[in-house]
Amino acid sequence: MKRKLPWKPTVKRALVCVILLAMPVRSAPPHAPRQSQSSPLSDNPRVRAALDWFTPNISWINDQQARLTEIPAPPFQEAPRAAALKELLAEAGLSVQIDKAGNVIGELGGVNGKEIVIVSAHLDTVFPAGTEVKVHREGSRMTAPGISDNGTGVAALLALARAVRFARLKLQRTILFVGDVGEEGEGNLRGMRALVDTYRSNLKAVIVLDGSSTDHVTTKALASRRLEASITGPGGHSWSDFGMPNPINALVRGSVRFISTKVPASPRTTFNIGQIEGGTSVNSIPHEARLKVDIRSESEDELTRLESALRECIAAGVRDETDSARDRSKGKLEWKVELLGSRPGGELASDSPLLAALRAADELVGNVSRIERSSTDANIPLSMGIDALSIGAGGNGGGAHSLQEWYDSAGREAGLKRTLLTVLGISGVAEEKPR
Ligand SMILES: [Zn+2]
Repeated sequence: MKRKLPWKPTVKRALVCVILLAMPVRSAPPHAPRQSQSSPLSDNPRVRAALDWFTPNISWINDQQARLTEIPAPPFQEAPRAAALKELLAEAGLSVQIDKAGNVIGELGGVNGKEIVIVSAHLDTVFPAGTEVKVHREGSRMTAPGISDNGTGVAALLALARAVRFARLKLQRTILFVGDVGEEGEGNLRGMRALVDTYRSNLKAVIVLDGSSTDHVTTKALASRRLEASITGPGGHSWSDFGMPNPINALVRGSVRFISTKVPASPRTTFNIGQIEGGTSVNSIPHEARLKVDIRSESEDELTRLESALRECIAAGVRDETDSARDRSKGKLEWKVELLGSRPGGELASDSPLLAALRAADELVGNVSRIERSSTDANIPLSMGIDALSIGAGGNGGGAHSLQEWYDSAGREAGLKRTLLTVLGISGVAEEKPR
């Protein structure tokens, strides 16, 4: 599926491309750092040294990925994995801190220290505490919940930091290598929100590493909302209180209405009832029932329409249940719909220096990637007009968010080189002083 080009024979072509790589950066001030005229990126042997670091170190990278994946990181419980990553980034020679949100931030100071590029990989998984996260390895294949999403991204973050430090690359802009918290589900992108909040005024670009593969680049942020509907009532005995309005009945009635809502194919709009719970025993009329819904759309208007539809349907479900209750003297139902999270939309401009850097990197490693719209950490900077994109970090993975999740490291070098070249393209490589 993926073209694997031998690296060495393409060196000449690579050098030409590296020159090209620097061009869009140079031609787009003031958003981009200045490349030195006398010493283009391609003349820098350190860039080659950094690129060449990956291949002999693949098994080390795989081992770190397995090790970090085996440290559980359920939503809101990323701290142990964060501590381990902090240590590894410090060993790589970065100055590392953990911020108030719980993000691990490893800093590599640039010549122009005020301008910042963030390279991030989310630490959290969707798996609750207690999930078996032991990694099973067979050849280049590893199986474990979270191994690819986002074990691959976190391992790549570490590999990039190592490669850059190994080659003693000096960059124009400061790079922050960040393992961030709260990307999945109800984390609601809180780690990235905190980062952008802190660095906003100096932040020039954000490169998000999420999962495996190299076949896509997410430059369009999919807007989404997560909602919880809950219905409460007095509750009672299944026999003696029969006829009393039942919150589960009302929720089911409302849900059936909601899932019949028509959504457009374009702008693409989706909904999903992902969790439903309530009641305490089979012979009790429950006092509570809840469900969680995820709605997504290419259009904010459709999101708003769908959120209203959910409220109307739950209200109607309560009304239907109340109307059909045999004994209304035994109490009534209350309902509410609350917003659990909201991810804003946005889009990277097609002529942005960041996308040009990615395209040049693709060209260089012989990769072909398509533009995608998705909901990722990049939503936050994109919604604020800050250049950002999200890519996989190489190799192949599947079964994300399932217990059968797997990762195959075959070909991961191409993804790592692609990522490094994108980072260097947007951060700029500093000129070395002649001795
Ligand atoms: Zn992810």
